[in-house]
Amino acid sequence: MIQDIWPHRYNNQYRNSAPDAECYALYYEEHTALLRRTSEGIEFPRFRDLERLNEEIYEDSIYLFSIDDSRYYLVREISREPHSGFTMENTEIFREAKPQYRSFAGITGYQLWNWYRSHKFCGRCGHMMQRDEKERMLFCPECRNMEFPKICPAVIIGVTDGNRILMSKYAGRAYKKYALLAGFTEIGETVEETVAREVMEEVGLKVKNIRYYKSQPWSFSDTLLMGFYCDLDGEDKITLDREELALAEWFEREEIPDQMSGESLTNEMIQHFKHGEV
Ligand SMILES: [Zn+2]
Repeated sequence: MIQDIWPHRYNNQYRNSAPDAECYALYYEEHTALLRRTSEGIEFPRFRDLERLNEEIYEDSIYLFSIDDSRYYLVREISREPHSGFTMENTEIFREAKPQYRSFAGITGYQLWNWYRSHKFCGRCGHMMQRDEKERMLFCPECRNMEFPKICPAVIIGVTDGNRILMSKYAGRAYKKYALLAGFTEIGETVEETVAREVMEEVGLKVKNIRYYKSQPWSFSDTLLMGFYCDLDGEDKITLDREELALAEWFEREEIPDQMSGESLTNEMIQHFKHGEV
């Protein structure tokens, strides 16, 4: 999965350290990131690649995380060298681009960039927020409001019935492959209750024996995904929520299509069932 970057090591502990020329500079605009494609895959600029046209770049940067001994920083409002090979690419590239640890760095940085740019002002009193020096936190000097990075819990649901699993396709989304049911946890709800509620809302089925499988950080949508399998309880007749889903069907293990990309928890759960490990 996208976060499985071994033998590389991701360290997200906040450090109040200044960047040097060899550090990586992550730069984003809307749904795009600055990167270069090489024969080995994608590559991010280092500060030395950007410093000539951007005198302020070292001061105007935010420490994000490190991978192995390399530090990654967020940089803002830069001018780009026209012939450097670095271009803005859609962040969807991080679903599959190699090497995987760079895709993971790219999408994790993107989530943090989104958080910083969405919290310039205090949501309580409207004052400008300031960055804390000791931890990854923004605070309001006026009313003392504190903001930490936002992560939304959500569930991925493998509904099974003996040798069958329920697969679906989303309505109105770019992602067209088969998926499992999924949904965000509401306030005041346990994740197990989310599983039962989402299955009822999306396909009108009751489930039982809800059991946890694995989790996955999914920075494309500010989410922590938690995967669950559960068993159909009673009637198997699907009543589709057409606002959410284009289709939902039962698949026998042997009928499940091979989907080779291994970045998502959804995919791993489908293949795990296909190979009889559930
Ligand atoms: Zn405030």
